[in-house]
Amino acid sequence: MTRVLHRSGAIPPVAVRGEGIYLHTDDGRSIIDASGGAAVACLGHGNRRVADAVGQQAAAMAYAHTGTFSNQPAEDLAEILLHDEPGGLTRAWFCSSGSEGNEAAIKLARQYFLEIGQPQRTRTIARRQSYHGTTLGALAAGGNMMRRANYEPILSQAHSLVSPCFAYRFKQEDETDAQYLDRLIEELDVEFQRLGPDTVMAFLAEPVVGATTGCVTALPGYFQRVRAICDRYGALLILDEVMCGMGRTGTMHAWEQEAVFPDIQVIAKGLGGGYQPIGGILIAGRIVHALADGSGGFLHGQTYQAHPVACAAALEVQRIIREDHLVENVQAMGRRLESGLQERFGNHRHIGDIRGRGLFWALEFVTDRGSKQVFDPTLKLNERIKAAGLTRGLATYPMGGTIDGKRGDHVIVAPPYIATAADIDTIVERLGDAVEAALKGV
Ligand code: PLP
Repeated sequence: MTRVLHRSGAIPPVAVRGEGIYLHTDDGRSIIDASGGAAVACLGHGNRRVADAVGQQAAAMAYAHTGTFSNQPAEDLAEILLHDEPGGLTRAWFCSSGSEGNEAAIKLARQYFLEIGQPQRTRTIARRQSYHGTTLGALAAGGNMMRRANYEPILSQAHSLVSPCFAYRFKQEDETDAQYLDRLIEELDVEFQRLGPDTVMAFLAEPVVGATTGCVTALPGYFQRVRAICDRYGALLILDEVMCGMGRTGTMHAWEQEAVFPDIQVIAKGLGGGYQPIGGILIAGRIVHALADGSGGFLHGQTYQAHPVACAAALEVQRIIREDHLVENVQAMGRRLESGLQERFGNHRHIGDIRGRGLFWALEFVTDRGSKQVFDPTLKLNERIKAAGLTRGLATYPMGGTIDGKRGDHVIVAPPYIATAADIDTIVERLGDAVEAALKGV
């Protein structure tokens, strides 16, 4: 019996306790949380320091409305993230989720252009098979076809989509990387022209695409060329690092590995590591100045923005990441995870692609490697992998619809930044067993 409306019809096991990389359920099972939920639990579970920071802040001052007061955890969190103004980002704004962060980013882009006297800019361009959130604005802007499907008729028409940079699936056989890049950039340029370049507010993209396609990195040079087009047409570049940011891919910001700077960066999951619901945006100096020289503030308030307890949790998470050099551990354990996956699955006939960066890796499944044909979606291979993992004490993040929202299966592993070499080896071993068991059933 449950009165909770769960995600699917089934009632999931009840998780009661978390400890390091493990989650424990009320029926006595211990499960490795090998994807930190949806790449959230970057410090693992049960971190005492973060729990104490949450408790202390809740006791000292749980809430003060940001229309009247600032609070120290929010100030300190913004400072730790931005003290060295990475990529020219100078101010932070905090909310409670990734979707809200993307909503705020889009509305800030709109307000920026009003402030600088370009009110005709009303449109965004994003990429198919990229996710920016579940709320109506973020869903409308994003390209997750599966999640959009039911809601198409009520989604705003202010957003358009172009092709993703997804070489494994969409680079043609007779195309070089350079030709594929040229084709993508040409398509983006044509879309700017079609809309009217001076009507576009922003291009919106995940530097490493997360759950929708499974850890897809762009070809080298893609983001630099995207940035150049945005600059040519005066549009902003919004990078959604909700899943891939905050150290997940081996650098604090995923854009560092693309050698571009965003105008607005969206952050969430690894920001607070799941200890509190928190997301936010990091904002380039020129946007901050435009607001300061114009209307003065950001016309986008939420009751729980910069929530003191959420900010206190994220502040402690960010301190620990820095003090314990956990981004370096992401790099080292990421290399181990990559080679473990390659060793176990590199020659597997049903695994077409092994891809990712840092501690953010995915396997994409095919009926055979040559044709890259996908499994019949009605077989629900991704759900079978999830179930087979759970029976072996491994929680992963599998998804279907990898290619177009309907076809394709992949599974993500995104272990906590605290993972040890032994943890990584166990994850690869259990994943291997789960994959074999699931494949036997289809
Ligand atoms: N953007 C990206 C890249 C995401 O992966 C997600 C969530 O998975 C979101 C936005 C939405 O975040 P949330 O579920 O916290 O609203």
